[in-house]
Amino acid sequence: MATAIRLRRLGAAAAIATVSGGALQLNQPSFAVNDRGGGPALATVRRRIADPNAVVPPRSVQESALIGASSANPLDVLVIGGGATGSGVALDAVTRGLRVGLVEREDFASGTSSRSTKLIHGGVRYLEKAVFNFDYGQLKLVFHALEERKQVIENAPHLCHALPCMTPCFDWFEVVYYWSGLKLYDLVAGARLLHLSRYYSAQESVELFPTLARKGKDRSLKGTVVYYDGQMNDSRLNVGLACTAALAGAAVLNHAEVVSFLKDDGSDRIIGARIRDNLTGTVTAPFPSLLLKSLTVLSAPGQEFDTYAKVVVNAAGPFCDSVRKLADKDARPMICPSSGVHIVLPDYYSPEGMGLIVPKTKDGRVVFMLPWLGRTVAGTTDSNTSITLLPEPHEDEIQFILDAICDYLNVKCLTGRFDLVDPMVEAQRIFITLTDCYNVEVDATRIIKTREAAFSAVLELIHKLGKAYITVRRTDVLSAWSGIRPLATDPSAKNTESISRDHVVCEEYPGLVTITGGKWTTYRSMAEDAVDAAIKSGKLSPSNECLTQKLRIIGGDGWDPASFTVLAQQYIRMKKSHGGKVVPGVMDTAAAKHLSHAYGTMAERVAAIAQNENLGKRLAHGYPFLEAEVAYCARNEFCESAVDFIARRCRLAFLDTDAASRALPRVIEILATEHKWDKSRKKKELEKAKQFLETFKSSKNAQFHDGKH
Ligand SMILES: Cc1cc2nc3c(=O)[nH]c(=O)nc-3n(C[C@H](O)[C@H](O)[C@H](O)COP(=O)(O)OP(=O)(O)OC[C@H]3O[C@@H](n4cnc5c(N)ncnc54)[C@H](O)[C@@H]3O)c2cc1C
Repeated sequence: MATAIRLRRLGAAAAIATVSGGALQLNQPSFAVNDRGGGPALATVRRRIADPNAVVPPRSVQESALIGASSANPLDVLVIGGGATGSGVALDAVTRGLRVGLVEREDFASGTSSRSTKLIHGGVRYLEKAVFNFDYGQLKLVFHALEERKQVIENAPHLCHALPCMTPCFDWFEVVYYWSGLKLYDLVAGARLLHLSRYYSAQESVELFPTLARKGKDRSLKGTVVYYDGQMNDSRLNVGLACTAALAGAAVLNHAEVVSFLKDDGSDRIIGARIRDNLTGTVTAPFPSLLLKSLTVLSAPGQEFDTYAKVVVNAAGPFCDSVRKLADKDARPMICPSSGVHIVLPDYYSPEGMGLIVPKTKDGRVVFMLPWLGRTVAGTTDSNTSITLLPEPHEDEIQFILDAICDYLNVKCLTGRFDLVDPMVEAQRIFITLTDCYNVEVDATRIIKTREAAFSAVLELIHKLGKAYITVRRTDVLSAWSGIRPLATDPSAKNTESISRDHVVCEEYPGLVTITGGKWTTYRSMAEDAVDAAIKSGKLSPSNECLTQKLRIIGGDGWDPASFTVLAQQYIRMKKSHGGKVVPGVMDTAAAKHLSHAYGTMAERVAAIAQNENLGKRLAHGYPFLEAEVAYCARNEFCESAVDFIARRCRLAFLDTDAASRALPRVIEILATEHKWDKSRKKKELEKAKQFLETFKSSKNAQFHDGKH
């Protein structure tokens, strides 16, 4: 008996993706069968992921593992798409003891999964529908999402937290309506409740949210109801999932695209895929292991190779129809794409720990303003769209958000399009809006000839009103992005018109399981369902059941909200310059907090690089991102391009396009050292990253400065 247990432990230890001769061996872990929710299997996987010395094998090793999966020795599961869903599937499958590969066309989270609202939510709106339509299906969705909300927050505590959200009420009916609705949300959450919702008077509300308007046109604030949902750093969570899957033994490869399927001649079953390496330039391994000394450059640009698997899982999000079409060119579309735009405003628009959500504006839309990574994210309801590779926000969508938030803020709109219209007409429009609201008399007929004159006339008016108003300006938009939601119809459902907010798992072509729909919050259970379907399809033999309910992602195990204090104490806060002046060193409290949240328990590794390798400077003034992060991400998080860093590893592109642009030369310099890029590659990286930032539509002359730019 004792021997059997020991053997089992040894077997599990051998399950770690071992590196030999430059190839990743995807060994089968031998966990106890039916080991769901705990037991030795979970303990083993946890130990492996939480091992402080564990190193994620680099991209070149991942690629050789995929190349090594032949028809005679196929993977169990090949996942297409490295968004939240695909990365979740890879993690679920590998921790069940299956041999797993994942390919992502661009970067992990480069699709919808980095462009979300960043809420981990149960879906209060579905609850409203459940109640008013007596719809049990909607209620089930809410129960399910609330359960998953709790799990996501618990499993990535460094990247997720509870966020209070304020709902303003402008009449007493609204107070009663939202209070009772949100109390019901608390009730449905039960043991999964984050914090109880509660009512605040108008006075208390503006103390909590100083920019909230107490008075608007024909109405005054009666109070607010504050409830809680979760908030996350979406792309870092996504990259964390992919890296955790890699640590557990999956071969995960970004910048690798499925271009066609391999089919069995006899049965027509899909048995693998042809993959194109999309990375330009050559790849060398910065892996610090002696075992890898023999590893040479594995891929030339655009190189294609085949990889075989018993089952392929299509998790390509909005692009899952194009993947289905690779299997059957006549495949009927199942995705109904809808797009949402977000803008980022300076921090002073919302207080640090409180969001504002207006469930129904005058025209029935949702509007929200949420604090996120030290700035304010604002957005509104999605609208129909077509699928594009790099969705861009339109100017009118940005303008719509600016106009919509104006109605709820103690700030007045100067969203005038001075660049597009006659300045006098525009100035008059703003004059009239202001005088309507504040009942003051002004001369709106004076002749204004230039844009500058129009602008200063409006400022003069605001001054005349005698109140300390700030204004919502287009020039305050630091960044703006658009994302495509993969709403899905079930191709096997009788009523194909019905678009589901739930996810859909189907296998229309033997060997290809498609998983899509759902939302970020439910990625884990979507993955569980997809892996169950893959096991059935491929008659696979997992060694244990799903473990992801209680599996913390890399950096999460042992993390504590106070972990940043260790960084702040152990790393240099101040140092003497050559001239003897005392200057800030690598670490201050803001940097320590940022590293601790972004990297969890791995933050110490980043801090050590900062201190020991002279990479402790900030990448952009006013932001806590350090040079050391670029090196760390290149070594440990498959950061293969400048865009991978500024958009998905650190969030500068999303937070402040101009700051991201200014940080680029240094980011590229560090990546060039890590990946041994030559001059032409560096030039290409700069061009590509600048083009990418163009899609973020910040204001060209943003007026928000922290004084250091
Ligand atoms: C505006 C907006 C706001 C949202 N807000 C929230 C929110 O607050 N909370 C929430 O829970 N949910 C939210 N969602 C929903 C959530 O973001 C998505 O459901 C989720 O991110 C989808 O993840 P995915 O992995 O299925 O798709 P994606 O993240 O798009 O991943 C699919 C991946 O497949 C890759 N791919 C495509 N074709 C190929 C190929 N041939 N080979 C290899 N790879 C390929 C793509 O490059 C892409 O990275 C929001 C969605 C939108 C649009």
